[in-house]
Amino acid sequence: MIIPKSSEEIELMRESALIVSKTLGMLAGEVKPGITTLALDALAETFIRDHGALPGFKGLYDFPNTLCMSPNAQVVHGIPNNKPLEEGDIISIDCGALKNGFYGDHAYTFAVGEIDPATEKLLKITKESLYVGIDAFRKGNRTGDVGYAIQHYTEAHGYGVVRELVGHGVGRKMHEDPEMPNYGRRGQGKQFVEGMVVAIEPMINQGTHRIKQLKDGWTILTADGLPSAHFEHNVALVNGQPQLLSTFKYIYDALGISSDEEKPFISA
Ligand code: MG
Ligand code: MG
Repeated sequence: MIIPKSSEEIELMRESALIVSKTLGMLAGEVKPGITTLALDALAETFIRDHGALPGFKGLYDFPNTLCMSPNAQVVHGIPNNKPLEEGDIISIDCGALKNGFYGDHAYTFAVGEIDPATEKLLKITKESLYVGIDAFRKGNRTGDVGYAIQHYTEAHGYGVVRELVGHGVGRKMHEDPEMPNYGRRGQGKQFVEGMVVAIEPMINQGTHRIKQLKDGWTILTADGLPSAHFEHNVALVNGQPQLLSTFKYIYDALGISSDEEKPFISA
């Protein structure tokens, strides 16, 4: 059952989302060769608690850490460890925060130093597909419209869309209805309702869409060992239009990137 949020609840959710956005912005300045994902995890946990929130993932379904850290061929749900990041790696960082009873949940895939052009293109196209998906999150549309948009955009580049893991509604629970697959058919699935909040999160593989899971019970990686990218935003349906609650602006500030990709989805 989809649980629509009041405008007051959406503002509380924006607060939770922005704590995650700022955490990712802080991490953007720290992601470099030599740092371990466990060190980044500790920084994130302190930062989130200092902002009056709780790490959203720690303990959720018994996940052990604050961040899901998924380098290179790992898709999502990687567990932070003591292995230093290396020049040329990519690292998908997924972060959650809980404040005022509401979750924020979003993700960004960072380049560690210089990365090869093919991987750089994977990151670019995956991030673009996130905004293509957000643009389809509109009154009258259905989950299949968002999934179709993301799938159509990324498969045109020969990429694989992960099937087993999907976006989701978000609110007082990290995972609420509806499921938001990154593939689908136009006009199919659950219809969007005013006030709902979702996590749209394409997980896109450079090669096959097929995945496998490590014996740790968490880590998902590509079946062919090629890289995978993950970008995620929290979006509310307000006046029938997609409105971003999260932002990558803090990341871009840290990295010196200018971008207007979020502009169409920011409330006046
Ligand atoms: Mg997430
Ligand atoms: Mg999510």
